[in-house]
Amino acid sequence: MNHHYDVVIVGAGSMGMAAGYYLTKAKLRTLLIDAFDPPHVLGSHHGDTRIIRHAYGEGRNYVPLALRAQALWGELEAATGQTLFRQTGVISVNAPGTTFVEEVIASAEVYSLPLEVLTADEIRYRWPGISIPDSYRGTFEPTSGVLFSEACIRAYRSLIEASGATLLANTQVESIAPEQNGATVRTKSATYTADKLIVSAGAWVGKILSRAGLALPLAPTRKAVGWFEADEALYGAERFPAFSFNLPDEQYYGFPSIDGCGLKVGRHDAGQPVDPDQMNREFGVHAEDEGDLRQFLQRCMPQAAGRLKQGKICLYTYTPDEHFIIDRHPEFAHVAIAAGFSGHGFKFSSVVGEILAELAATGETQHDISMFSVQREALQGK
Ligand SMILES: Cc1cc2nc3c(=O)[nH]c(=O)nc-3n(C[C@H](O)[C@H](O)[C@H](O)COP(=O)(O)OP(=O)(O)OC[C@H]3O[C@@H](n4cnc5c(N)ncnc54)[C@H](O)[C@@H]3O)c2cc1C
Repeated sequence: MNHHYDVVIVGAGSMGMAAGYYLTKAKLRTLLIDAFDPPHVLGSHHGDTRIIRHAYGEGRNYVPLALRAQALWGELEAATGQTLFRQTGVISVNAPGTTFVEEVIASAEVYSLPLEVLTADEIRYRWPGISIPDSYRGTFEPTSGVLFSEACIRAYRSLIEASGATLLANTQVESIAPEQNGATVRTKSATYTADKLIVSAGAWVGKILSRAGLALPLAPTRKAVGWFEADEALYGAERFPAFSFNLPDEQYYGFPSIDGCGLKVGRHDAGQPVDPDQMNREFGVHAEDEGDLRQFLQRCMPQAAGRLKQGKICLYTYTPDEHFIIDRHPEFAHVAIAAGFSGHGFKFSSVVGEILAELAATGETQHDISMFSVQREALQGK
Protein backbone atom coordinates (compact mmCIF):
# COMPACT_ATOMS: atom_id res chain seq x y z
CA MET A 1 0.00 0.00 0.00
CA ASN A 2 1.28 3.46 -0.93
CA HIS A 3 1.35 5.59 2.20
CA HIS A 4 2.28 8.88 0.52
CA TYR A 5 -0.37 11.49 -0.27
CA ASP A 6 -0.50 14.98 -1.70
CA VAL A 7 -2.35 16.11 1.44
CA VAL A 8 -3.12 14.50 4.80
CA ILE A 9 -5.92 16.03 6.90
CA VAL A 10 -5.72 15.41 10.65
CA GLY A 11 -9.28 15.71 11.95
CA ALA A 12 -12.21 15.28 9.54
CA GLY A 13 -14.91 17.15 11.44
CA SER A 14 -16.49 20.45 10.41
CA MET A 15 -13.42 22.08 8.87
CA GLY A 16 -11.42 19.01 7.88
CA MET A 17 -14.26 17.25 6.07
CA ALA A 18 -15.02 20.38 4.04
CA ALA A 19 -11.32 20.76 3.17
CA GLY A 20 -11.25 17.13 2.08
CA TYR A 21 -14.12 17.75 -0.31
CA TYR A 22 -12.51 20.77 -1.98
CA LEU A 23 -9.17 18.97 -2.24
CA THR A 24 -10.66 15.88 -3.86
CA LYS A 25 -12.60 18.18 -6.20
CA ALA A 26 -9.24 19.74 -7.14
CA LYS A 27 -8.00 16.18 -7.83
CA LEU A 28 -5.37 16.15 -5.10
CA ARG A 29 -4.63 12.77 -3.59
CA THR A 30 -6.00 13.29 -0.10
CA LEU A 31 -6.09 11.19 3.06
CA LEU A 32 -8.51 12.21 5.82
CA ILE A 33 -7.95 10.74 9.28
CA ASP A 34 -10.40 11.08 12.17
CA ALA A 35 -10.23 9.68 15.68
CA PHE A 36 -13.97 8.94 15.56
CA ASP A 37 -16.60 8.36 12.85
CA PRO A 38 -17.77 11.81 11.70
CA PRO A 39 -20.29 13.19 12.19
CA HIS A 40 -20.12 12.10 15.82
CA VAL A 41 -21.00 13.36 19.30
CA LEU A 42 -17.54 13.75 20.84
CA GLY A 43 -16.31 17.00 19.27
CA SER A 44 -17.82 20.36 18.37
CA HIS A 45 -20.34 19.68 15.59
CA HIS A 46 -23.19 17.57 17.04
CA GLY A 47 -26.65 18.56 18.25
CA ASP A 48 -28.27 18.77 14.79
CA THR A 49 -28.20 22.51 14.16
CA ARG A 50 -25.98 25.59 13.93
CA ILE A 51 -26.92 29.22 13.27
CA ILE A 52 -25.64 31.01 10.19
CA ARG A 53 -25.73 34.82 10.32
CA HIS A 54 -24.32 37.22 7.72
CA ALA A 55 -24.40 40.61 9.52
CA TYR A 56 -21.74 39.82 12.08
CA GLY A 57 -21.60 41.11 15.64
CA GLU A 58 -18.13 39.62 16.16
CA GLY A 59 -16.76 41.91 13.42
CA ARG A 60 -17.72 43.16 9.97
CA ASN A 61 -14.60 41.55 8.47
CA TYR A 62 -16.36 38.20 8.74
CA VAL A 63 -19.17 39.23 6.35
CA PRO A 64 -17.51 38.31 3.01
CA LEU A 65 -16.67 34.89 4.44
CA ALA A 66 -20.21 34.39 5.76
CA LEU A 67 -21.65 35.23 2.32
CA ARG A 68 -19.22 32.92 0.55
CA ALA A 69 -19.98 30.18 3.08
CA GLN A 70 -23.71 30.57 2.45
CA ALA A 71 -23.15 30.24 -1.33
CA LEU A 72 -21.05 27.12 -0.81
CA TRP A 73 -23.74 25.55 1.41
CA GLY A 74 -26.14 26.14 -1.47
CA GLU A 75 -23.73 24.39 -3.84
CA LEU A 76 -23.46 21.46 -1.44
CA GLU A 77 -27.26 21.18 -1.32
CA ALA A 78 -27.35 21.19 -5.12
CA ALA A 79 -24.57 18.56 -5.37
CA THR A 80 -26.26 16.17 -2.94
CA GLY A 81 -29.96 16.99 -3.37
CA GLN A 82 -30.27 17.35 0.41
CA THR A 83 -31.74 20.13 2.53
CA LEU A 84 -28.87 21.45 4.65
CA PHE A 85 -30.14 24.98 5.38
CA ARG A 86 -33.47 26.32 6.60
CA GLN A 87 -34.11 30.04 6.16
CA THR A 88 -35.73 30.82 9.51
CA GLY A 89 -34.14 34.27 9.78
CA VAL A 90 -32.11 35.21 12.87
CA ILE A 91 -33.12 37.70 15.55
CA SER A 92 -30.51 39.29 17.76
CA VAL A 93 -31.85 40.82 20.98
CA ASN A 94 -29.69 43.18 22.97
CA ALA A 95 -29.80 44.69 26.43
CA PRO A 96 -28.76 48.35 26.69
CA GLY A 97 -24.99 48.78 26.73
CA THR A 98 -24.14 45.61 24.77
CA THR A 99 -22.03 46.39 21.72
CA PHE A 100 -22.78 43.31 19.62
CA VAL A 101 -25.81 44.95 18.00
CA GLU A 102 -23.83 48.01 16.90
CA GLU A 103 -21.48 45.81 14.89
CA VAL A 104 -24.39 43.81 13.43
CA ILE A 105 -25.95 47.05 12.19
CA ALA A 106 -22.64 48.46 10.94
CA SER A 107 -21.78 45.30 9.04
CA ALA A 108 -25.22 45.26 7.40
CA GLU A 109 -24.71 48.88 6.32
CA VAL A 110 -21.21 48.33 4.94
CA TYR A 111 -22.22 45.24 2.96
CA SER A 112 -25.83 46.28 2.10
CA LEU A 113 -27.35 43.29 3.87
CA PRO A 114 -31.08 43.16 4.56
CA LEU A 115 -31.53 43.88 8.27
CA GLU A 116 -34.46 45.22 10.27
CA VAL A 117 -33.73 47.23 13.44
CA LEU A 118 -36.51 46.66 15.97
CA THR A 119 -37.74 48.14 19.27
CA ALA A 120 -38.79 45.92 22.18
CA ASP A 121 -42.45 46.61 21.32
CA GLU A 122 -41.97 45.55 17.72
CA ILE A 123 -40.16 42.36 18.80
CA ARG A 124 -42.86 41.37 21.33
CA TYR A 125 -45.64 42.10 18.83
CA ARG A 126 -44.05 40.08 16.05
CA TRP A 127 -42.94 37.14 18.24
CA PRO A 128 -45.33 36.98 21.22
CA GLY A 129 -43.20 34.17 22.68
CA ILE A 130 -40.46 36.72 23.52
CA SER A 131 -40.60 38.58 26.83
CA ILE A 132 -38.11 41.47 27.22
CA PRO A 133 -37.95 44.85 28.98
CA ASP A 134 -38.81 48.04 27.06
CA SER A 135 -35.17 49.15 27.04
CA TYR A 136 -34.04 46.21 24.87
CA ARG A 137 -33.78 46.38 21.10
CA GLY A 138 -32.89 44.00 18.35
CA THR A 139 -32.20 43.21 14.73
CA PHE A 140 -33.75 40.66 12.41
CA GLU A 141 -31.91 39.25 9.42
CA PRO A 142 -34.45 37.47 7.21
CA THR A 143 -31.99 35.79 4.82
CA SER A 144 -30.06 33.82 7.43
CA GLY A 145 -31.10 30.78 9.46
CA VAL A 146 -30.17 27.27 10.45
CA LEU A 147 -27.66 24.77 9.09
CA PHE A 148 -28.12 21.08 9.80
CA SER A 149 -24.55 20.57 10.93
CA GLU A 150 -24.33 16.78 11.10
CA ALA A 151 -26.10 16.49 7.73
CA CYS A 152 -23.59 18.98 6.26
CA ILE A 153 -20.65 16.85 7.37
CA ARG A 154 -22.37 13.68 6.17
CA ALA A 155 -22.98 15.36 2.78
CA TYR A 156 -19.32 16.30 2.33
CA ARG A 157 -18.32 12.83 3.46
CA SER A 158 -20.59 11.13 0.91
CA LEU A 159 -19.06 13.19 -1.92
CA ILE A 160 -15.52 12.49 -0.70
CA GLU A 161 -16.16 8.77 -0.50
CA ALA A 162 -17.86 8.75 -3.92
CA SER A 163 -14.73 10.38 -5.38
CA GLY A 164 -12.60 7.46 -4.18
CA ALA A 165 -10.56 9.43 -1.62
CA THR A 166 -9.58 7.69 1.59
CA LEU A 167 -11.18 8.53 4.92
CA LEU A 168 -9.81 6.62 7.89
CA ALA A 169 -12.46 6.80 10.62
CA ASN A 170 -11.90 5.64 14.22
CA THR A 171 -8.18 6.18 13.73
CA GLN A 172 -6.42 8.49 16.12
CA VAL A 173 -3.40 10.43 14.91
CA GLU A 174 -0.75 9.95 17.59
CA SER A 175 1.84 12.37 16.24
CA ILE A 176 2.64 14.71 13.39
CA ALA A 177 6.13 15.70 12.33
CA PRO A 178 6.38 18.59 9.90
CA GLU A 179 9.62 18.48 7.90
CA GLN A 180 11.23 20.87 5.44
CA ASN A 181 9.57 19.25 2.41
CA GLY A 182 6.55 17.44 3.76
CA ALA A 183 5.22 15.85 6.88
CA THR A 184 4.94 12.48 8.60
CA VAL A 185 1.76 11.45 10.37
CA ARG A 186 1.64 8.46 12.71
CA THR A 187 -1.32 6.45 13.92
CA LYS A 188 -1.09 3.41 16.19
CA SER A 189 -0.71 1.04 13.24
CA ALA A 190 0.67 3.04 10.32
CA THR A 191 2.85 5.91 9.17
CA TYR A 192 1.80 8.26 6.37
CA THR A 193 3.76 10.92 4.55
CA ALA A 194 2.44 13.89 2.60
CA ASP A 195 3.60 16.94 0.71
CA LYS A 196 1.07 19.07 2.61
CA LEU A 197 -0.60 18.74 5.97
CA ILE A 198 -3.81 20.23 7.36
CA VAL A 199 -4.34 20.19 11.12
CA SER A 200 -8.05 20.61 11.84
CA ALA A 201 -8.57 18.47 14.93
CA GLY A 202 -10.95 20.83 16.75
CA ALA A 203 -10.58 20.74 20.54
CA TRP A 204 -7.49 18.54 20.19
CA VAL A 205 -5.41 20.88 17.97
CA GLY A 206 -3.61 22.35 20.97
CA LYS A 207 -2.45 18.94 22.16
CA ILE A 208 -1.38 17.74 18.71
CA LEU A 209 0.57 20.88 17.83
CA SER A 210 2.21 21.27 21.22
CA ARG A 211 3.58 17.74 20.91
CA ALA A 212 5.02 18.89 17.55
CA GLY A 213 6.64 21.95 19.11
CA LEU A 214 4.06 24.70 18.53
CA ALA A 215 2.24 25.97 21.62
CA LEU A 216 -1.01 27.85 20.95
CA PRO A 217 -3.30 29.47 23.55
CA LEU A 218 -6.36 27.28 22.86
CA ALA A 219 -8.91 26.61 25.61
CA PRO A 220 -11.31 23.68 25.06
CA THR A 221 -14.47 24.44 27.03
CA ARG A 222 -17.44 22.27 28.01
CA LYS A 223 -20.82 23.60 26.84
CA ALA A 224 -24.37 22.41 27.51
CA VAL A 225 -27.37 22.65 25.18
CA GLY A 226 -30.95 21.62 25.90
CA TRP A 227 -34.17 21.02 23.98
CA PHE A 228 -37.26 22.13 25.89
CA GLU A 229 -40.90 21.35 25.33
CA ALA A 230 -42.40 24.56 23.94
CA ASP A 231 -45.70 25.97 22.75
CA GLU A 232 -45.40 25.03 19.07
CA ALA A 233 -47.80 27.80 17.99
CA LEU A 234 -45.33 30.35 19.37
CA TYR A 235 -41.95 28.69 18.85
CA GLY A 236 -42.36 26.38 15.84
CA ALA A 237 -39.89 26.95 12.97
CA GLU A 238 -42.72 28.10 10.68
CA ARG A 239 -42.99 31.32 12.71
CA PHE A 240 -40.10 31.62 15.15
CA PRO A 241 -36.51 32.45 14.09
CA ALA A 242 -33.13 31.31 15.34
CA PHE A 243 -31.95 33.77 17.99
CA SER A 244 -29.10 35.26 19.94
CA PHE A 245 -29.69 37.20 23.17
CA ASN A 246 -27.05 39.51 24.59
CA LEU A 247 -28.13 40.13 28.17
CA PRO A 248 -26.13 42.40 30.51
CA ASP A 249 -23.84 39.59 31.75
CA GLU A 250 -24.92 36.53 29.80
CA GLN A 251 -25.30 35.46 26.19
CA TYR A 252 -27.73 32.82 24.93
CA TYR A 253 -28.52 31.50 21.46
CA GLY A 254 -31.00 29.03 20.14
CA PHE A 255 -33.28 27.56 17.55
CA PRO A 256 -37.01 27.30 16.98
CA SER A 257 -38.67 23.95 17.48
CA ILE A 258 -38.00 22.17 14.19
CA ASP A 259 -40.47 19.36 13.41
CA GLY A 260 -41.60 19.38 17.04
CA CYS A 261 -38.14 18.65 18.50
CA GLY A 262 -38.50 21.39 21.13
CA LEU A 263 -36.87 24.79 21.43
CA LYS A 264 -33.09 24.34 21.57
CA VAL A 265 -31.07 26.77 23.68
CA GLY A 266 -27.44 27.11 24.76
CA ARG A 267 -25.38 29.59 26.73
CA HIS A 268 -22.66 31.19 24.63
CA ASP A 269 -20.53 32.63 27.44
CA ALA A 270 -19.45 30.66 30.55
CA GLY A 271 -18.76 26.88 30.51
CA GLN A 272 -15.96 24.86 32.13
CA PRO A 273 -12.38 24.72 30.75
CA VAL A 274 -11.63 21.03 30.11
CA ASP A 275 -9.27 18.47 28.71
CA PRO A 276 -11.34 16.91 25.88
CA ASP A 277 -9.94 13.47 26.76
CA GLN A 278 -11.07 13.71 30.40
CA MET A 279 -14.29 15.70 30.15
CA ASN A 280 -17.59 14.50 31.60
CA ARG A 281 -20.02 14.39 28.63
CA GLU A 282 -23.09 13.65 30.71
CA PHE A 283 -25.64 16.47 30.60
CA GLY A 284 -26.74 17.46 34.11
CA VAL A 285 -23.62 16.68 36.13
CA HIS A 286 -23.35 20.43 36.74
CA ALA A 287 -26.50 22.12 38.06
CA GLU A 288 -26.04 24.95 35.56
CA ASP A 289 -26.21 22.56 32.57
CA GLU A 290 -29.99 22.78 32.76
CA GLY A 291 -30.31 25.57 35.34
CA ASP A 292 -28.82 28.40 33.25
CA LEU A 293 -30.91 27.48 30.22
CA ARG A 294 -34.13 27.13 32.15
CA GLN A 295 -33.77 30.47 33.96
CA PHE A 296 -33.11 32.19 30.62
CA LEU A 297 -36.24 30.64 29.14
CA GLN A 298 -38.34 31.51 32.18
CA ARG A 299 -37.19 35.10 31.83
CA CYS A 300 -37.25 35.65 28.06
CA MET A 301 -39.31 32.80 26.51
CA PRO A 302 -41.62 31.63 29.27
CA GLN A 303 -43.84 29.36 27.15
CA ALA A 304 -40.73 27.46 26.03
CA ALA A 305 -39.60 26.59 29.57
CA GLY A 306 -41.32 23.21 29.53
CA ARG A 307 -39.98 19.73 30.19
CA LEU A 308 -36.37 19.09 29.17
CA LYS A 309 -36.66 16.75 26.19
CA GLN A 310 -32.93 16.15 25.79
CA GLY A 311 -29.62 17.69 26.75
CA LYS A 312 -26.16 17.39 25.19
CA ILE A 313 -22.60 18.40 25.98
CA CYS A 314 -20.38 19.85 23.28
CA LEU A 315 -16.98 21.58 23.04
CA TYR A 316 -15.99 25.13 22.20
CA THR A 317 -12.29 25.87 21.65
CA TYR A 318 -11.56 29.48 22.57
CA THR A 319 -8.70 31.68 21.49
CA PRO A 320 -7.94 34.67 23.77
CA ASP A 321 -9.63 37.13 21.36
CA GLU A 322 -12.30 34.64 20.20
CA HIS A 323 -11.20 35.04 16.58
CA PHE A 324 -10.23 31.95 14.59
CA ILE A 325 -6.79 30.64 13.66
CA ILE A 326 -6.65 29.88 9.92
CA ASP A 327 -3.09 30.13 8.73
CA ARG A 328 0.08 28.40 7.70
CA HIS A 329 2.36 27.04 10.38
CA PRO A 330 4.88 29.79 11.30
CA GLU A 331 7.85 27.56 10.46
CA PHE A 332 6.41 25.16 7.87
CA ALA A 333 4.40 26.95 5.18
CA HIS A 334 3.12 23.66 3.76
CA VAL A 335 1.28 22.93 7.03
CA ALA A 336 -2.09 24.67 7.40
CA ILE A 337 -3.82 25.09 10.76
CA ALA A 338 -7.56 25.62 11.36
CA ALA A 339 -8.36 25.97 15.04
CA GLY A 340 -9.85 28.03 17.85
CA PHE A 341 -13.29 28.53 16.33
CA SER A 342 -14.48 29.90 19.69
CA GLY A 343 -18.08 28.71 19.41
CA HIS A 344 -18.96 30.49 16.16
CA GLY A 345 -17.13 28.57 13.46
CA PHE A 346 -19.55 26.06 12.00
CA LYS A 347 -21.33 28.44 9.64
CA PHE A 348 -17.95 29.16 8.00
CA SER A 349 -16.79 25.55 7.67
CA SER A 350 -17.66 25.40 3.96
CA VAL A 351 -15.51 28.44 3.15
CA VAL A 352 -12.82 27.40 5.64
CA GLY A 353 -12.65 24.12 3.73
CA GLU A 354 -12.21 26.08 0.52
CA ILE A 355 -9.46 28.21 2.10
CA LEU A 356 -7.59 25.20 3.51
CA ALA A 357 -7.77 23.44 0.15
CA GLU A 358 -6.41 26.54 -1.60
CA LEU A 359 -3.58 26.87 0.94
CA ALA A 360 -2.68 23.21 0.49
CA ALA A 361 -2.89 23.33 -3.30
CA THR A 362 -1.13 26.65 -4.00
CA GLY A 363 0.15 28.11 -0.72
CA GLU A 364 -2.22 31.07 -1.22
CA THR A 365 -5.93 31.78 -0.80
CA GLN A 366 -8.25 34.19 -2.61
CA HIS A 367 -9.84 35.08 0.78
CA ASP A 368 -8.53 37.64 3.25
CA ILE A 369 -7.51 35.62 6.30
CA SER A 370 -5.10 38.16 7.79
CA MET A 371 -7.19 38.58 10.96
CA PHE A 372 -6.85 34.84 11.64
CA SER A 373 -3.06 34.88 11.70
CA VAL A 374 -1.33 32.43 14.02
CA GLN A 375 1.23 35.15 14.71
CA ARG A 376 -1.18 37.91 15.76
CA GLU A 377 -0.49 39.73 18.98
CA ALA A 378 -3.48 38.31 20.87
CA LEU A 379 -1.97 34.83 20.61
CA GLN A 380 1.52 35.74 21.77
CA GLY A 381 2.94 35.39 25.24
CA LYS A 382 0.13 33.24 26.66
C1 LIG B 1 -23.04 23.68 21.57
C2 LIG B 1 -22.41 24.37 20.42
C3 LIG B 1 -23.15 25.27 19.66
C4 LIG B 1 -22.58 25.93 18.58
N1 LIG B 1 -23.35 26.79 17.84
C5 LIG B 1 -22.83 27.35 16.72
C6 LIG B 1 -23.66 28.12 15.86
O1 LIG B 1 -24.86 28.29 16.12
N2 LIG B 1 -23.09 28.63 14.74
C7 LIG B 1 -21.78 28.44 14.42
O2 LIG B 1 -21.35 28.94 13.40
N3 LIG B 1 -20.98 27.70 15.22
C8 LIG B 1 -21.47 27.16 16.35
N4 LIG B 1 -20.70 26.37 17.16
C9 LIG B 1 -19.26 26.24 16.86
C10 LIG B 1 -18.97 25.21 15.79
O3 LIG B 1 -19.77 24.07 15.91
C11 LIG B 1 -17.47 24.86 15.88
O4 LIG B 1 -16.74 26.09 15.78
C12 LIG B 1 -17.04 23.93 14.79
O5 LIG B 1 -17.83 22.77 14.75
C13 LIG B 1 -15.57 23.56 15.00
O6 LIG B 1 -15.16 22.71 13.95
P1 LIG B 1 -13.81 21.89 14.04
O7 LIG B 1 -13.61 21.26 12.71
O8 LIG B 1 -12.74 22.76 14.59
O9 LIG B 1 -14.09 20.76 15.15
P2 LIG B 1 -14.84 19.36 14.99
O10 LIG B 1 -16.03 19.48 14.13
O11 LIG B 1 -15.02 18.82 16.36
O12 LIG B 1 -13.78 18.47 14.20
C14 LIG B 1 -12.55 18.10 14.76
C15 LIG B 1 -12.32 16.65 14.39
O13 LIG B 1 -10.98 16.28 14.70
C16 LIG B 1 -11.00 14.94 15.13
N5 LIG B 1 -9.79 14.65 15.91
C17 LIG B 1 -9.43 15.16 17.10
N6 LIG B 1 -8.23 14.65 17.50
C18 LIG B 1 -7.83 13.81 16.54
C19 LIG B 1 -6.69 12.97 16.38
N7 LIG B 1 -5.71 12.92 17.29
N8 LIG B 1 -6.62 12.21 15.28
C20 LIG B 1 -7.60 12.25 14.33
N9 LIG B 1 -8.70 13.03 14.44
C21 LIG B 1 -8.81 13.80 15.52
C22 LIG B 1 -12.26 14.83 15.95
O14 LIG B 1 -12.70 13.49 16.08
C23 LIG B 1 -13.23 15.70 15.15
O15 LIG B 1 -14.01 14.93 14.26
C24 LIG B 1 -21.23 25.70 18.25
C25 LIG B 1 -20.48 24.77 19.00
C26 LIG B 1 -21.06 24.11 20.07
C27 LIG B 1 -20.24 23.13 20.86
